[in-house]
Parts: sequence; structure tokens; C-alpha cells
Amino acid sequence: MFDYLIVGAGFAGSVLAERLASIEGKKILLIDKRNHIGGNAYDCYNNEGILIHKYGPHIFHTNSKEVFQYLSKFTEWRNYQHKVLACVDGLQVPIPINLNTINSLYGLNLSSAEVEGFLAARAEEITQVKTSEDVVLKAVGRELYEKFFKGYTKKQWDLDPAELDASVTARVPTRINKDDRYFTDTYQAMPLHGFTKMFEKMLDHPNIKILLNTDYHEIINEIQYAKMIFTGPVDEYFDYCYGKLPYRSLQFKFETLDQEQFQQTGTINYPNDYAFTRITEFKYLTGQKHTKTSLVYEFPKAEGDPYYPIPRPENAELYKKYQELTHQTNAYFVGRLATYKYYNMDQVVAQALSTFKKIQAETNPISDENKITV
Ligand code: FAD
Ligand code: UDP
Repeated sequence: MFDYLIVGAGFAGSVLAERLASIEGKKILLIDKRNHIGGNAYDCYNNEGILIHKYGPHIFHTNSKEVFQYLSKFTEWRNYQHKVLACVDGLQVPIPINLNTINSLYGLNLSSAEVEGFLAARAEEITQVKTSEDVVLKAVGRELYEKFFKGYTKKQWDLDPAELDASVTARVPTRINKDDRYFTDTYQAMPLHGFTKMFEKMLDHPNIKILLNTDYHEIINEIQYAKMIFTGPVDEYFDYCYGKLPYRSLQFKFETLDQEQFQQTGTINYPNDYAFTRITEFKYLTGQKHTKTSLVYEFPKAEGDPYYPIPRPENAELYKKYQELTHQTNAYFVGRLATYKYYNMDQVVAQALSTFKKIQAETNPISDENKITV
């Protein structure tokens, strides 16, 4: 008899397994249909001995001290500030768009104050920012929107930016300084020995039993458990009773080259050429030294593993219907797929930690004598 059956061994499932086992002494069965823990953050060494991310490049960044301190229990870190170049008009220029981007692209030598004016002169007046197109047009105007965002977004989502929520392109800000980092979060670091090692340490507890290669449907009637925590796709849990929630998928093409370095920075985006969106060279992310180098190309697809919820109003409506159903179960739904949110790793950790606090409050209600009445 398990206290919790946790479906999915990614960040959502693993954080909850760890908290419930080590703080509450609960007995956990953590299952995953894949043959490894770590969910989409899983990393492993390829045949050449280079550490790669099987489900695309994962860079950890957060502003949450709580999340960073929590994960620091299970790993040491290597400082890493991710930098991305976009291949536009035959040049490789920094993205997010910053002072250097504009100067390189237009052969100018503007100051921060001047670039502010340059962008303001091109920015469109949009009073109500609703879509991903609005966000960019309001910040930089149509020409830069078309160079950097329109094609990339169409490739990534098979949608025009005008069909996506503002939150999607709002992930990529515009800067008038020369800061060429992709993220500006307080904490930016990679687990020193990789994500999988961090997950192994997190789940190394006598109360946590891990069952891999197992879809929960296969065992649900064989296992005795008190409560379930589900971190897979929410529509799958309810047998798609309202229809499929759209997710965007990717095909990864890995390549190892017999040379030490391939490109100038961790990731290069290709907004306007090729069928892939970006190429990432893993050694920048991991800091590994090796005579060869491994890359991953990301080809967006409609079918395949569900990687990205697609933020747009009709999908939010459909998700809401599934969310209503979750209230009628006694399971907890946590994570990017189960709550249909375009969350980064740190946001999923934060969501799992707050779910843990909620569970604690529900299972250890304050006894009457300790209650403070105002
Ligand atoms: P997942 O990691 O998806 O885990 C869910 C698990 O449930 C999976 O392992 C799955 O196999 C399992 N499962 C599903 N259905 C079943 C079933 N029926 N039975 C058993 N098991 C099941 N975030 C960042 O912070 N930085 C980045 O740089 C970054 N890059 C990314 C790049 C790509 C290409 C993608 C796709 C995502 C990226 N993310 C990044 C987001 C990050 O991957 C997620 O936020 C995080 O991994 C989500 O964790 P999760 O536990 O919610 O889901
Ligand atoms: N985006 C873009 N051009 C870029 C980078 C990003 O148009 O060079 C848009 C695109 O719609 C993308 C979104 O911004 O899906 C979010 O980018 P991010 O790099 O955060 O995507 P992720 O790493 O989650 O795939």
C-alpha cells in the first residue's frame, strides 16, 4: 500500500516525491512510461561521451531564492549565462534585440539613448496588447518583427504571432543596453554533474520506489494507493472527453562533429531559413571539455511527444473544462502538461513546492488548541 502514486518522474513528480517522502515520511510509488527519470530535463552521455539533453537544450534560470535553495540540496552548480545569436540578413546578431543588435544590423554606432529613439520611431502604437504580434510591434516595429519573430514563430508553432497569446513572445524582451544574455534572472546556473544526477540524488530515499517503462494505465488497477499525483497531459487523464488539447512537438536531430567547437555561442536561432528553429551546442551549456562537439537541431512538429502547451484563447477555454473535471477527482494535477502551462523548470518546481504545502495543510490541519481566533 502506497500513500501516493505519482505519475511522471519529471520536475513536478520528482519534487513532490522527494518532499512527501523526506518531510512527511510518506511511501511513494513514482512511475514513468519512459525508461528514465528527469522528464524532459533528462540528460545523458552519448556514444562519444558528450553530455547531451535528450529532449532539447535545458538551461536553468530563476529569480526564486526558494527554488534555487531547494534544488541546491541535490546538486552543486556551474555558473552559466546563456547567450543566443539570431541569424538575420546573413549576420549573426544578439537576441533578445539589444543595442549591439541594432548597431550590427544597420551598421550604426548608436548610444543607449539613441537606440531608444530609434526603436520608438519604429514602434507601433498599440493600446491593448493582446497577441504575440502586438508585443513585438509595440516594442520594435514591423521591420524587426519580421526579421526576428514572424518566421521563427510560424515555424515553432505553425501559427502567426497574431494567433498566440502575448505571453509567448513576451518571453523575449527588448533591451537598449548591451546586455546580450538570453536571461536576466538572479540565479543562472547548470547542475554541475547534469540534471539526471540531480534527479538521482533527489529520489534517493528508502520511501521512494521508482517504476520505469510503465504507463499508469497498466498498473492503476493492480496498485493500492491512497492518493494520486498526476503530471502527464491533463486531457489524456480524462480520456480526451472534451477533445484533444493541442500541444506542439519537436523532432530533435543530434549530430557529433570531429572538431572542438562548431558555433560562436550556446544557441543560434534561424528565424527565416531552414526547417529547424535553432542549433544548440551542448558543451557551452555543460562546460564539458572534449575534442569533439555535439549539437541538437530542433524541428517543430504537430504530432509527437507533447512538449509545448499552445497559449491561445481557445486552448485556454478547453483547458478550463478539463480543469473543472480535476476538481471532481481526488488527484493533484501538477506540472507543464497537467496544468497546460508554458512553464520553465523553475516555475514547475515552484508549483510543486506550493502543492506540497497545500497537501501538508490538508493532511495536517492545525489542531483546535493551536488555532488562533481573532
Ligand atoms: P515533464 O518533464 O514532461 O514530465 C512529465 C513526465 O510524465 C514525463 O517524463 C512523461 O514520460 C510522464 N508521463 C506522461 N504520461 C504518462 C503516463 N500515462 N504514464 C506514465 N508516465 C507518464 N525550461 C527551462 O527552465 N529552461 C529551458 O532552457 C528549457 N528548455 C526547454 C526546451 C524544450 C525543447 C522543452 C520541450 C522544454 C524546455 N523547458 C525549459 C521546459 C521544461 O522542460 C519543463 O518546464 C519541465 O521539464 C516540466 O516538468 P514536468 O514535470 O511538468 O513535465
Ligand atoms: N521567438 C522568436 N524569435 C526568436 C526567439 C523566440 O520569434 O529568435 C519567439 C517564438 O515564438 C518562441 C517564443 O518567442 O516560441 C519563446 O522563445 P523561447 O526562446 O523562450 O522558447 P523556448 O526556449 O521555450 O522554446
